[in-house]
Amino acid sequence: MAVADIAPSERVRAYTERFRTFLDTEVAELETELARQSAGTASGPKFDEQGRMHPAVWQARREVQRRSAALGLYAPHSGTAAGGGGFDRVEMHHVEEFVYRHSGLGLGLAALAWTEGPNPAIEHCSPAMREQYLAPLMAGKITAAFCNTEIGAGSDVLRMATHATRDGDDWVINGSKGWITNSHFADVLQVVAVTDPGAGTRSLSMFLIDADAPGVSRGADLPTTMADGLTGTLEFRDVRVPAENVVGEVGDGFGLAMSWINWRRLCRGGMCAGWGAWLLERAVDYARQREVGGKPIAAQQAVQHMLADMDADIYQARSTSLVAQAELDVLGPYGTPLHRDAPRLISLVKVINDEAFFRVADTAIQVRGAVGLVQDSPEEKLFRVARNLRIPAGTSEIQRNAIARGLLKATAA
Ligand SMILES: Cc1cc2nc3c(=O)[nH]c(=O)nc-3n(C[C@H](O)[C@H](O)[C@H](O)COP(=O)(O)OP(=O)(O)OC[C@H]3O[C@@H](n4cnc5c(N)ncnc54)[C@H](O)[C@@H]3O)c2cc1C
Repeated sequence: MAVADIAPSERVRAYTERFRTFLDTEVAELETELARQSAGTASGPKFDEQGRMHPAVWQARREVQRRSAALGLYAPHSGTAAGGGGFDRVEMHHVEEFVYRHSGLGLGLAALAWTEGPNPAIEHCSPAMREQYLAPLMAGKITAAFCNTEIGAGSDVLRMATHATRDGDDWVINGSKGWITNSHFADVLQVVAVTDPGAGTRSLSMFLIDADAPGVSRGADLPTTMADGLTGTLEFRDVRVPAENVVGEVGDGFGLAMSWINWRRLCRGGMCAGWGAWLLERAVDYARQREVGGKPIAAQQAVQHMLADMDADIYQARSTSLVAQAELDVLGPYGTPLHRDAPRLISLVKVINDEAFFRVADTAIQVRGAVGLVQDSPEEKLFRVARNLRIPAGTSEIQRNAIARGLLKATAA
């Protein structure tokens, strides 16, 4: 693989220039407006009485999404047929790295579709659903939630209990989902449910359900270490949807859920590289200016080694991401079915980046001493984010299982 294969393309450079202007102008203004409302910040919001993100913070994020979509910045990862940019995974690594590096923990992060936005799975929806949900999602007019996990079934997805039964031309869905990001605010729910019990990876299907449909109810916030007021439960009691709300074909649910999850796994490369570079730059600046015993701590070899360790972690995790994502661009990162060599590469990106970033965030605090522990400072918040990353979209243990499966399959062949 030549270095040119993993360098930012011309259209990535054009995209990031436009994104930078958007951040410096419109997002900066919205951030100033938000600061006047005493509602908290994008990364440290206040909450309503149910523990949900303060409505003013949610609305500020929504405004960023709508404007970003209008400028064509919101969904570079989505296919061109859906109205997205059609960027490949190497391009998206660079986009994500740029966005996380330059937005830090600000409102700008909302400008690039995250879990509440368009995703590879929903692109498989029917023409009617394209009009009803995909087009407004692409335009930032509505948001989605991916409803896969249940309180009783996380890593073991195939043991989920939520089920859909056929009734004439409709499907009737019953069950509940837990730990769902954006459950409080989503307009459309991408729900994975059992349609053919006992059929293994063909037992599940994905449905698009209007969040205001009769029979859908939203629970209170499930507060986590993220402290973002965005995670909760959803209940489905005899929720009726027509057959056109099935995404892909009946039985495709497991593959589609994996394409959503793999999208989030791959985003870890640019995210950890971007935030890692931000933390490292802040650590270098701090070490240069903080004096202890009459000289900057940067003069201490122990502190220099902390900076070097951060750099080593960021460099190796970023390199893994770029090389693996270039390989995945050849194999197809979201295929249903997925190429047999893809799961190992995807899991390598996730586990190496999540674990490297956790060490980086931990060291970033150590370099600053007590100042690093100040609540809601960038270092303290990103330490909590880094701790979180090792669980959603598949735990580190589940990634190791996938890597080992890939190795054992390869040697058996
Ligand atoms: C902040 C946050 C946001 C989330 N957002 C969403 C969302 O939007 N949509 C959604 O569907 N889900 C979401 N999740 C759920 C998330 O994907 C699950 O928490 C995750 O898949 C792990 O499942 P679990 O929590 O049930 O852990 P469990 O499956 O109970 O695992 C517990 C422990 O056992 C280990 N373990 C389990 N099985 C194995 C195995 N086979 N081999 C080795 N170790 C194993 C795990 O690694 C872990 O250490 C979110 C979670 C959080 C915390």
